[in-house]
Amino acid sequence: MSGFFDTKIEFLKGVGPQKAELLNKELNIFTFGDLIQHYPFRYEDRTKYYKINSISPDMTFVQVKGVLRHLELIGAGRRKRLVAFITDDTGELELVWFQGIQWVVKKLKKGVEYIAFGRPAQFNGRLNIAHPEIEISTNTSENDGFLQPVYSTTEKLKLKYLDSKAIFKLQMNLLEKALPHIVESLPENIIREKSLLNKKDSILQVHKPENRNMLSKALFRLKFEELFYIQLRLLRLKLARIDKFKGQVFSNTSLLNEFYHKHLPFELTNAQKKVIKEIIKDLRSGHQMNRLMQGDVGSGKTIVAFITMLVVISDGGQVAMMAPTEILAEQHYQGLSELTERIGLKICLLTGSTKSSVRKEIHEKLENGEMNIIIGTHALLEEKVKFKSLGMAITDEQHRFGVEQRSKLWQKTEDVYPHILIMSATPIPRTLAMTLYGDLDVSVIDELPKGRKQIHTIHKYDSHRIWVFGFIKKEIEAGRQVYIVYPLIEESEKLDLKHLTDGYEAIKRAFPKEQIGIVHGKMKSQDKDYEMKRFASGQSKILVATTVIEVGVNVPNATVMIIENAERFGLSQLHQLRGRVGRGADQSYCILMSNYKLTKEAKERIKTMVRTTDGFEIAEADLKLRGPGDMMGTQQSGLMDLLISDLSKDGIILQAARETAKEVLREDPSLTKNENLVIRKKIESFNKNVFNWSKIS
Ligand code: ADP
Ligand code: MG
Repeated sequence: MSGFFDTKIEFLKGVGPQKAELLNKELNIFTFGDLIQHYPFRYEDRTKYYKINSISPDMTFVQVKGVLRHLELIGAGRRKRLVAFITDDTGELELVWFQGIQWVVKKLKKGVEYIAFGRPAQFNGRLNIAHPEIEISTNTSENDGFLQPVYSTTEKLKLKYLDSKAIFKLQMNLLEKALPHIVESLPENIIREKSLLNKKDSILQVHKPENRNMLSKALFRLKFEELFYIQLRLLRLKLARIDKFKGQVFSNTSLLNEFYHKHLPFELTNAQKKVIKEIIKDLRSGHQMNRLMQGDVGSGKTIVAFITMLVVISDGGQVAMMAPTEILAEQHYQGLSELTERIGLKICLLTGSTKSSVRKEIHEKLENGEMNIIIGTHALLEEKVKFKSLGMAITDEQHRFGVEQRSKLWQKTEDVYPHILIMSATPIPRTLAMTLYGDLDVSVIDELPKGRKQIHTIHKYDSHRIWVFGFIKKEIEAGRQVYIVYPLIEESEKLDLKHLTDGYEAIKRAFPKEQIGIVHGKMKSQDKDYEMKRFASGQSKILVATTVIEVGVNVPNATVMIIENAERFGLSQLHQLRGRVGRGADQSYCILMSNYKLTKEAKERIKTMVRTTDGFEIAEADLKLRGPGDMMGTQQSGLMDLLISDLSKDGIILQAARETAKEVLREDPSLTKNENLVIRKKIESFNKNVFNWSKIS
């Protein structure tokens, strides 16, 4: 789409400069092309009328036809409301307005039949619809036989009368002019093979569907196209990188063999062995590695990373490993130090709180090559940190890092790029992984070390606190330790902190003989570290904390994770928190505390947690509940601005689109064939707007 579709939106009939500015700001709609791709997010079936006695409050939207019997203004001032009752042959329904009353009241007349449309709700035991759309019923009502599209809009736009209906009208104005300008954007052969609807009809049907069948054909075609081009671009990036970026070759396994046969602290799982092989294969391939290692909490990613480091180091390379927090960096450092000692390697730790004298020494040893491994936080990314020969850069728990930061590690060496390994404990559903990481190779550790006991997860209401305290007591008497986690978010920070400290005081009163620690993000990092260490060494028995302990912390003796206000946490966060226990040989427990008032979603999240400990199952459930836009890290990808597809629902279309993209590239890697001219054009138009993604991972 070009030329016509680049026309500024203000030149569309019915828009003008003021509304154009709002559309720019509120919906990112700048051009005709932007508007036409502002697809409906839902369709309302206006072909169907409900009988009043068949309506229930759990229905999302209903349309009813009824005669207005009674109309009344109730209350005064801010509590003023307009109430109307309509009846059909089955019953009576209340309609209510709190705003725009003057305007509505003018439209309503007793004894006239209306069509009302809205979301039913239960209020004081009575069913009503607040702020319904309402219009006089005529035999030729404009909505009859029509699936009405619903467009996303905002409060500000609505104030300027740009509600969903108004946007629909704009779409109709635009379509009238636009249809002749719409050109096909998929190759003919793909359209034929997949029996896709053509582009012009798809656009038309998506905004003004003739019937359900045409609508679903249009949706399929547009989603397929969107996902096809994303996959094609990702696959091309991968091909290009394999071509362009030479990888350093590391193939010396002498250190690895020594470690593996003499110093390995435990038998590796088969999944760990498999992933080690995959990484080593990359390291010796001559191509730069870009690999994501996914494994649930506790699956043992660290040792895998370490073993592969040995191959790099044997051949004279250095390794950097970056963690998102100081606590986590330090834990990696301590854990890995024990291993490096056994084979005489040099390792150091660099964080924001490293003293400057130590820092200087580290800088020197990195530059002259004496230092083999550096562990650290963002501090690693400072310009002063230079390597003699950085062979591999590892980032742990990547979702905490922005794309920008991850790419910085690359730029340490001018001409040769280090191999990149990203470790993630956030299980990502297949559909999402394909889209987010379509240009990375993915290794999955899908097996936990032997002997781990399944964590028991229980949901308890706040009123059962006494039982919970009793449970804590028993566990502590058996020599174990307990986490109690409170939510803390910026918007309600003060109140949250108060809950946390109140909880801490209550725990101190309930367990006067025990040492109890407290950790939250507002504390100085020395104090935090002090408390963490006290807990890790077993001195304190209970740790009251916020989610600062979410990532990576490892205290095998802690067997109970209590999560307060569990309803306020997201699923993946709950899963991460639960992963803090169950790290030793003892049976572990996770207790989700909540009050009785739970939203449907919160109930679903808690139910999912109680049902399963499988990270992938949880991730799928999370995707369904929240949608992909909310998933951690996805905003950073820049590829998630999907116009029409929904990754939580369109997995099958994605799969098909990816297969097709692969086929196209297999047949015609450089896209020079005539039939693929359409694709080439489309990609060129993308490239105009997008910066270089190939440098990012
Ligand atoms: P994560 O994948 O969550 O980063 P870690 O690497 O921290 O997991 O490993 C969790 C714990 O399991 C560590 O204490 C580690 O030493 C231990 N571990 C890792 N692999 C094995 C194994 N194959 N057998 C027994 N314990 C293991
Ligand atoms: Mg870890």
